[in-house]
Amino acid sequence: MSNNEDWTIEDAERLYSVGRWGGGYFEIGENGNLHVTPDLDNKDIRIDFKAVLEEIKEEGIQLPVVVRFHDILRSQVEKLNETFRRTMNDAEYGAQYMGVYPVKVNQMREVVEEIVDAGKPFNYGLEAGSKAELITALAYNTNEDSLTVLNGYKDEEFMRLALLARKLGRKVIVVIEKFSELLLLVKIAKELDIQPIVGLRSKMTVKGRGKWEGSGGDRAKFGLTISEIIKAARYLESEGMGDTFKLLHFHIGSQLTDIRAVKEAINEGARIYAELYRMGFKLDYVDVGGGLGIDYDGSKSTNDSSRNYSMEEYVADVVFGMKEVCDLEDVPVPNLVSESGRAITAHHSCVVTQIVGEIRANSAEIDTKEEDDEHILVSNMRDLALGVDQQDNLQEIFNDASQWKEQAIDAFKLRVVTLEELAKIETLYWQIMVKLRHRTRDAEFVPEEMQELEYTLSSQYLCNFSVFQSAADTWAIDQVLPVVPITRMNERPTVNCSLVDITCDSDGKIDQFVIENGVSDVLPMHPLRSGEEYYLGLFLTGAYQDVMGDMHNLFGRLNEVHIFSYDDDPQDFYIEEVVPGSSVENVLSIMQYHPSSMAQTVKRMIDRKVSEGIMNPREGVKWTDFYEQCLAGYTYLKQK
Ligand SMILES: *Cc1c(COP(=O)(O)O)cnc(C)c1O
Repeated sequence: MSNNEDWTIEDAERLYSVGRWGGGYFEIGENGNLHVTPDLDNKDIRIDFKAVLEEIKEEGIQLPVVVRFHDILRSQVEKLNETFRRTMNDAEYGAQYMGVYPVKVNQMREVVEEIVDAGKPFNYGLEAGSKAELITALAYNTNEDSLTVLNGYKDEEFMRLALLARKLGRKVIVVIEKFSELLLLVKIAKELDIQPIVGLRSKMTVKGRGKWEGSGGDRAKFGLTISEIIKAARYLESEGMGDTFKLLHFHIGSQLTDIRAVKEAINEGARIYAELYRMGFKLDYVDVGGGLGIDYDGSKSTNDSSRNYSMEEYVADVVFGMKEVCDLEDVPVPNLVSESGRAITAHHSCVVTQIVGEIRANSAEIDTKEEDDEHILVSNMRDLALGVDQQDNLQEIFNDASQWKEQAIDAFKLRVVTLEELAKIETLYWQIMVKLRHRTRDAEFVPEEMQELEYTLSSQYLCNFSVFQSAADTWAIDQVLPVVPITRMNERPTVNCSLVDITCDSDGKIDQFVIENGVSDVLPMHPLRSGEEYYLGLFLTGAYQDVMGDMHNLFGRLNEVHIFSYDDDPQDFYIEEVVPGSSVENVLSIMQYHPSSMAQTVKRMIDRKVSEGIMNPREGVKWTDFYEQCLAGYTYLKQK
């Protein structure tokens, strides 16, 4: 391993940018393993990720696995709330922060429970955007002082549930997305004689930038235009319910990449609030929606996968922006609500899997020794391969090799070249390409066609997971997620690879990686060693990815382990809970199969073979048990 001598942890950090996307929670340890500091307020707790994996293995939990760090969730909830408190103090802002967590970003019960619990001292509430989420929020947000904000399209049942919550003493705010919802709400509120709290969502003229910019502008799917807001407020007034209008809402998109969009939205929202106030609608709250971004690629830029600001700057712009307009307009400042979901959950969970194989275009080399009556194309290709290192015109070699390979295929079809000769030509061709790549690496000028050699010759590491289940956005919207090896980062990574998953779908791949100078189509990794697992982590999957996965190829949900940090433990953590992922039975049942009758059918077929004497009874029982075991087992590849 002589080439590790000049490879340091700093080099690894430069390459994998862990510090830049890690949010203070992840870093590369001196031993080359990924380390986790799950509590920003207690840096003494430092968990070696390798130790977590060893414990997972000891407990017999199969990979791939979702690893959740509950302390990171708590830490993010505290960080957001404390940042708002501190900033409001500094600004001498005369009202409060009453944030809510949007359940849609990660609906897992354990996640919602942890957030509600961590948020209790701050009266941090929940946001729901569908009936199922409202039903969840009703049962889980039991703090009478925190808000429950209801967005999304609503039916009569939805309104009744919201009013039930009012009856139970909850601060539930129904945010009106379109005018007709207001008619429905007023009708049911009167029928039940329950006073609602109403929010109106404004369709903003400012558009967020990034992949979700459609959430703002004239064609936005949600919200009321300015004239509709005035019409709605007046309507409430005419129904004797003017004082139920308490909140102004806007949301210009998720993952806002540019802070200028935030500033503009706050300015516009503050103006609307101030005017409404002067019209006599004394609102208690302005809800600035979500959008607080995550720096997935560590570039601190306006790339779609990044953002050009920090949480502190975002909060300062919201607080100071609102105060400035209110002071200017001489109206009291409102309580501030925000609905940050991505920023709360992204860091706390990751997917860990192992590499189960390597796929390379030039992996099978056969013996290319000269035969007496071989085809001239074979001889030519061999001479070319032998001469690469002495030649200077690399482009010419590349052209000749490519042309002869094509000619060989034609010749094969015309029965002039044999299958074995074709295999030799293929082997020689790739040997030439490897040599060419070697020589172009240090060249100042590389002809266009040859620039792709690095990618063409890169390996594909086969990962035991499904992109569609665990990283849906990398497939759907080209989201870049950080991917790094969990161990061996103290070794120089010498294999450039992209990743492919185990689904039977050529879209099941990852070929965009965050590395030192931006986004690359290959990730430098380490050569596989036989008999040794090579672990890979996919990070920042806690927002959206965790819960958006689909059933492509019936892989289903991953095993999950929940990690809590614990100072007195020698390794600083313990596994608090294991949530088993989908079994084959589970996923089949979802698709309307009947696993037990399937097992019976297979058993009958086996019994028949036993009675025909093709299998002995002992074998028959073994095969029957085996089929049932597989039905009950994990859907992913089983590694020993
Ligand atoms: C999705 C959504 C959010 C969450 O946005 P993040 O970017 O994850 O913070 C907040 N509010 C509304 C109305 C949403 O639709």
